[in-house]
Amino acid sequence: ADLLDIKNLSVSVEEKAILDAVNLTINKGETHVLMGPNGAGKSTLGNAIMGNPRYIITGGEIVFNGENITAEAVDKRAKRGIFLSFQNPLEVPGVSLGNFIRSAMEQRFGKRIRLWDFRKELKASMDILGMDHSYAERDLNVGFSGGEKKKAEILQLLMLKPELAILDETDSGLDVDAVRTVSEGVKAYQKNMDGALLIITHSTRILEALSVDKTHVIVNGKIKATGDGSLVNKINDEGFESFLEG
Ligand code: ADP
Ligand code: MG
Ligand code: MG
Repeated sequence: ADLLDIKNLSVSVEEKAILDAVNLTINKGETHVLMGPNGAGKSTLGNAIMGNPRYIITGGEIVFNGENITAEAVDKRAKRGIFLSFQNPLEVPGVSLGNFIRSAMEQRFGKRIRLWDFRKELKASMDILGMDHSYAERDLNVGFSGGEKKKAEILQLLMLKPELAILDETDSGLDVDAVRTVSEGVKAYQKNMDGALLIITHSTRILEALSVDKTHVIVNGKIKATGDGSLVNKINDEGFESFLEG
């Protein structure tokens, strides 16, 4: 059965129409890549799936695990297992990374999570990402480098075990080593949790270690092409030019 079914979705931001009748289906455990020029509507699609209220749905619907979630609030979608990593993660003084993740898990799973179990799992996940365990006590993202913020996002992904993770340019601005580490974390999610992914990226480096089921090209708020993983290489070689007309 389909995990995510987006039907004829149109979305406006600040009264400006951005997405135009987008259709997209993601099955359980599948990895999809979304590529397109700057301003095409990639982040808009991610935010609309997550339920960010600034993105107004003007047509169509979003169905998740067979239920229409088009009008549902962000926190309900998070509980269902939808996760969005941010292009620019927020800094939250006064809340440690560890406490933030633990309370997010308690909300997502609707039960208390024992501290001992939590710490054990957190450390194991931090090890996958090569993060020093002391990061758990640091204020969320405060003074983190770009790479550390992205690792903290992937740490949340591993701990929250969403059914669908949307990664919005999680690899942008990272050095080669950091991209490899982030990619290892995403691979662990893909393999160990059979999680589905929608990866928004401009680069092929994060994809090297991952298996890609489908690639979509979005231009001017419309999906212009859908193909398999090899479409990523075509775009890498030729750019978006051949998708711009029509
Ligand atoms: P992409 O992620 O593909 O680069 P976006 O989805 O961020 O593109 O943006 C698509 C269009 O929507 C752009 O023209 C952008 O200026 C506009 N837009 C996106 N978010 C906002 C916002 N919060 N306020 C105003 N305009 C926005
Ligand atoms: Mg898979
Ligand atoms: Mg964007």
